[in-house]
Amino acid sequence: MDGKIALEEHWSVDETLQIAGQPVRTGARWEELCRLLVEFRAQRLDGMDANGIELAILGLNSPALQAILNPAEAADVARRANDILAAEIALTPNRFAGFAGLPMQDPEAAALELTRCVTELGFKGAMVNCFTQKDVPDSAVYYDLPEFRPFWATVAELDVPFYLHPRLTIPSRTTTYEGHRWLYSQAWDFGSETAIQALRLIGSGLFDEFPRLQVVLGHLGERIPFDMWRIDNLMEKTPVSYPAKKRVSEYMRQNFHLTTSGQFHDAPFQCALAEMGAARLMFSVDYPYEEMAPAAAWFDNTKLSDADRLRIGRTNAIELFKLDLA
Ligand code: ZN
Repeated sequence: MDGKIALEEHWSVDETLQIAGQPVRTGARWEELCRLLVEFRAQRLDGMDANGIELAILGLNSPALQAILNPAEAADVARRANDILAAEIALTPNRFAGFAGLPMQDPEAAALELTRCVTELGFKGAMVNCFTQKDVPDSAVYYDLPEFRPFWATVAELDVPFYLHPRLTIPSRTTTYEGHRWLYSQAWDFGSETAIQALRLIGSGLFDEFPRLQVVLGHLGERIPFDMWRIDNLMEKTPVSYPAKKRVSEYMRQNFHLTTSGQFHDAPFQCALAEMGAARLMFSVDYPYEEMAPAAAWFDNTKLSDADRLRIGRTNAIELFKLDLA
């Protein structure tokens, strides 16, 4: 399919690559990722052309800004990075758009930077790498906390989506992985950490306060669609402290969108499609952590009606991000 739009596509600057907490930091794979993350023109555009991707909405690598301990430094780096991205987009505005990186260490600064990025730089929303550290390495701040409500009010007022992207859990909180280092990786921890933050946002009643807020999750929903019915069912039978007014599945279907990033497989896709509906799914790759060719080959051939392929591959993103595309 030509004309696809992809929106979990990563970029970086040297400064954000040097921040601690990257999932892979050594060897040939890391060197290759570093090269591809900072490259916009040749390899990235060639790959998009070869795989029918018309537009990529770019967001920073993980964890980048969310691993900076000093709030003022995070705000500085965010501003510099967002300005660099805006300059790159301006060179080929018909091929790239941007997500703001945000200094979530300071909710007020994050709201100001998002406002600047949307109103002055033309960015389409934010991409944030799960929880943020703050002040000390052993910290993890989640955005359901009351101090973030004014930030969410700004997101709702700007009417732009917030892409909640994974990052690895803080090492001190991974004792259940002891002896199984392989679980502390993109293969497992990325999804579970992000799913917990998404469920925390839901359970806090955030979407009762801001019903129009729209959050995007990658990797076909970080395993939540597979468990939605069971969560609802068990919460009804044995209700525990849950301040939100509606069932988890209702928020998922009204306030969340999912992308296919890094999940190029029919079974989880059909599950997400059945639980969320075609209007809430969008194509993505997760470049350069994933390759464009297998992502596009799978999506172009997976069992879907032509109308749903067009929606998921293109028009859902045009509508959600108000893109100036036909
Ligand atoms: Zn990603």
